[in-house]
Amino acid sequence: MPADHAAIPSAVADPAADAAAVAPRGAADLIDGTAIAAGVRGQVAGDVAELRERGLVPGLTVVLVGDDPASALYVGAKEKASRAAGMASETVRLPAGTSQAQLLALVEQLNVDERVHGILVQMPLPPQIDPDTVIRHIRPDKDVDGFHPVNVGKLLIGHTDGFVPCTPLGVQRMLAHHGVTVRGADCVIVGRSTIVGKPMAALMLAADATVTACHSRTRDLASHTRRADILIVAAGRARMITADMVKPGAVVIDVGMNRVAHAGAKSGTRLAGDVDFDAVRAVASLITPVPGGVGPMTIAMLLTNTVRAARRISGQTGIA
Ligand code: NDP
Repeated sequence: MPADHAAIPSAVADPAADAAAVAPRGAADLIDGTAIAAGVRGQVAGDVAELRERGLVPGLTVVLVGDDPASALYVGAKEKASRAAGMASETVRLPAGTSQAQLLALVEQLNVDERVHGILVQMPLPPQIDPDTVIRHIRPDKDVDGFHPVNVGKLLIGHTDGFVPCTPLGVQRMLAHHGVTVRGADCVIVGRSTIVGKPMAALMLAADATVTACHSRTRDLASHTRRADILIVAAGRARMITADMVKPGAVVIDVGMNRVAHAGAKSGTRLAGDVDFDAVRAVASLITPVPGGVGPMTIAMLLTNTVRAARRISGQTGIA
């Protein structure tokens, strides 16, 4: 079991500690999202096998409108992973010109389909469709993305019978896997989107961290990030977090996925996170790489949410 990477609050109050933030102190341990996700997926496959024996096949339906290549890639990966876990997985592909009424009609159909326990409408949607209207039409107990206002509200209130968005849920799972002490830690989150930053803040607050939510209007971002025992970055700005913005020994979670120019790559680009990985690794105690960090966890947690939905809807909640 890895060491407890709890950050020590008293170290934060020491100005010398902040001043030393740029001094490399050896490489941080890696949080291997691919391996942790494989463990979660194995667990899910076991749960699905057990449910199948009882005659329940968890079903996930993903809806893709249009032909955005990145969305098609994500949807393909979700379908493959849910099939591999033994679920009944279907992707409904609709043309880019689909009207909002047509999409809502499909959602209504899926809402009442007993074989479907999880519904996921891939974002972004074409401009003629309002994403909020679509999300509000998904039955909250089938909303495995956790975006419906009912589920958002449950997360904020602290009710545990809702769905939490997959990416923050995956981050929480990674921290738990590494034994990171969240209670009492200073957790700084960069980004306040509905899908990552805000639910991440709610989760960390519920886990008794002291949470700071930063965004594009935050003054002197570094003064906040440097206080973080746990720094979670989801801003979509390649390598914006530099070593001097990180407290020595901090746990750094990089949610960002940015395409940057890379001469060595066939496509001319490569994936980069929001964190300047090599430099920050020398300062932090634990860090996620990009790729191979948070990304694989997102799909794994979608599978977890779908199994939960199947159990809840069918009333088979007795299985661990
Ligand atoms: P959004 O664009 O919706 O939100 C970005 C957030 O970052 C906003 O709150 C914005 O502030 C804030 N921000 C932007 N620039 C700065 C800055 N310079 N300083 C401080 N805050 C800033 O992005 P998402 O939350 O959807 O995604 C964030 C990143 O995470 C992206 O790279 C995305 O690709 C990646 N991602 C990865 C996933 C995974 O599975 N690994 C899943 C989801 C996203 P403001 O609110 O003021 O505009």
